[in-house]
Amino acid sequence: MNDCPFCAIAAGTIAADRIYEDEEVVAFRDINPQAPTHILVIPREHIASAAELTRAQDPLWGRVLHVAQQLAVSEDIDASGFRLVTNVGADAGQTVPHLHLHLLGGRAMSWPPG
Ligand code: 5GP
Ligand code: ZN
Repeated sequence: MNDCPFCAIAAGTIAADRIYEDEEVVAFRDINPQAPTHILVIPREHIASAAELTRAQDPLWGRVLHVAQQLAVSEDIDASGFRLVTNVGADAGQTVPHLHLHLLGGRAMSWPPG
C-alpha cells in the first residue's frame, strides 16, 4: 500500500530495528517504546487492522501470534509476563493503519488500560 509506514518497513525502504523476519512476518522495536521490551509484529501483507482479517488469514494471524510468543522467550520476558495488544480504530488509539501486534514487557503493567 502506498504511504503505509509499516509496508515500507516490511519492504526495507524505511529503517527499523528489525529483530525477526520470515516470508510472512516482520518484527521490529517500537520507535517510541512504552516498556523495556516493546516490539511490533506485523504481517508483510497490508491489512488495515484486526477488523479486516478474513478466515483465509487465520494462519497468518496465528503466525503473528506465535512469533510474538517466541520473541517473548528470546527477550526473556516469558516467565515474568508480557502483554499482547492490537489497537483497532480511533477509540483504541490506532495510529498506523497496518495490522500490528504490540509485545510489551519488562515491567509491571496496570489494568484496565487508559
Ligand atoms: P498503534 O497506536 O497504531 O497501535 O501503534 C503504532 C505504533 O507504531 C506506535 O507505538 C508507534 O510508536 C510505532 N511507530 C510508528 N511509526 C513507526 C516507525 O516508523 N518505526 C517504528 N519502529 N515504530 C513506529
Ligand atoms: Zn501497510
